[in-house]
Amino acid sequence: MCIFCQIVKKEIPASIFYEDEIALAFLDIKPVNPGHALVIPKGHVANLEEISDSDLALLIGAVKKVGRMLKDKLGISGYNLVLNNDPIAGQEIFHLHFHLIPRFENDGLKLFPAGEYKMGEKEELLNKLLS
Ligand code: 5GP
Ligand code: ZN
Repeated sequence: MCIFCQIVKKEIPASIFYEDEIALAFLDIKPVNPGHALVIPKGHVANLEEISDSDLALLIGAVKKVGRMLKDKLGISGYNLVLNNDPIAGQEIFHLHFHLIPRFENDGLKLFPAGEYKMGEKEELLNKLLS
């Protein structure tokens, strides 16, 4: 059983602060910033492609509520919502989870650098997406 399923079953401790029928939220054990929260579905799915549309709708509702809690209870003014979907994207725990990372003035976190397309590359990608 995966580590997040063990947290759902309360077999290992976690700082759980939100729970509903489908979702659970707890503090990340190694926070990027204080208040860094993870929101997971209670049922095991590895990634975004595995969750049903109906469960995803409920899960994103939970994400929204948890974001509201961070703002109202911790006084944060904004957060990044991150999903590392699959190993190439840095996913290490293969139980779907959204990261809510509180942001603070001058916290030093850098977002992804902006790149540039080579000549014709954007059109090629767009054609593939439209095919
Ligand atoms: P990923 O890279 O898979 O998107 O992120 C996994 C996250 O889970 C990491 O931020 C890591 O700190 C967190 N994490 C891993 N194991 C545990 C744990 O046992 N308890 C909690 N609360 N967080 C964990
Ligand atoms: Zn799991």
